[in-house]
Amino acid sequence: MTLIDRLCRGVRPSFSDHLDGQPLPLHLAVQVRLHLTFCPMCRRTYRALEATRESLGALRELDVQDSEVSSKSTNPSDTSGR
Ligand SMILES: [Zn+2]
Repeated sequence: MTLIDRLCRGVRPSFSDHLDGQPLPLHLAVQVRLHLTFCPMCRRTYRALEATRESLGALRELDVQDSEVSSKSTNPSDTSGR
């Protein structure tokens, strides 16, 4: 097992936590960022996780926007008459 392999195993579990917006311990956050700058494999893994998260987030946002729009449309907007 190479040093890189060991580093990969060390940081990969943190990817999803990091993407979930969970506060990582500072040393771990630094480690993850640093690792991503020099490890293309983990960068790809991270991007894939990020993409998955973003599509999930987009779905959730659509939901929120939808309910916001419908609640706004029930409000009378008289200010537009000026
Ligand atoms: Zn790696």
